[in-house]
Amino acid sequence: MRLNTLRITCSWVACLAMAGLGFGVEPRHSAGPGYVWPYETRIGQFQIHANAPLDCRAVVDALGSLPHDLQNSLGFSPLSQPATSATEIHVFLFRKQAEFQQYLAWFIPDAPSRPAMFIQHRGIPMVFAYSRPELRQDLRHECTHALLHLQYHRLPLWLDEGLAEYFEHTAEPFGREEPQLSGEILHLNPASYQELERISDVARMTERHYQQSHQHVRYMLHHSRESREQFQKQLREFAIDRKDSK
Ligand SMILES: [Zn+2]
Repeated sequence: MRLNTLRITCSWVACLAMAGLGFGVEPRHSAGPGYVWPYETRIGQFQIHANAPLDCRAVVDALGSLPHDLQNSLGFSPLSQPATSATEIHVFLFRKQAEFQQYLAWFIPDAPSRPAMFIQHRGIPMVFAYSRPELRQDLRHECTHALLHLQYHRLPLWLDEGLAEYFEHTAEPFGREEPQLSGEILHLNPASYQELERISDVARMTERHYQQSHQHVRYMLHHSRESREQFQKQLREFAIDRKDSK
């Protein structure tokens, strides 16, 4: 089920990018189809908007440490604090699935059904989710995408997904072990690595591709200090130069 969510999530990122973000509504400034945002708060660089009282503990647990987790593991350069408009991520939370679906249908016509989504609209990172038992994982997964997109550009699709899968967990090491893939560590299996590298359409990613991507992240971060440093060095090649982007 999460696999479908991830596929759809990222396919929408791609679709919206290709379409030039061709929808003209700002959820931050509009109430939408009968919705208002009576509950708003900030958690670090996350600006939270909710249409009902929040399960604050779940949200804080999910997001409070996430930027720090990525910074520690991936060697991010620290983002400016407090958050600026260039580093702010808007998170829209709904009490019920039906409200979430109705809102997305209004904001993004023909949006497929899914439990959570990240989009980048006019340069503004936005995450949408609704209250359900998996909310923490949903938020961490989608907000990891948002943080990665603030930090990197042209990150390979498989790596973007592998990192989001890894950080959706809330305790280090964040990624779960997948012992059935222990013989398929990517750097020892060039064919698998090359296969992932060729995937540019998320619809072509299989469950095994997701597992391999996740396993690669986990292995590189935890196998040895050298593998972690090598991984961080590879990621720096995708880093956005903030000085040039101003
Ligand atoms: Zn994803």
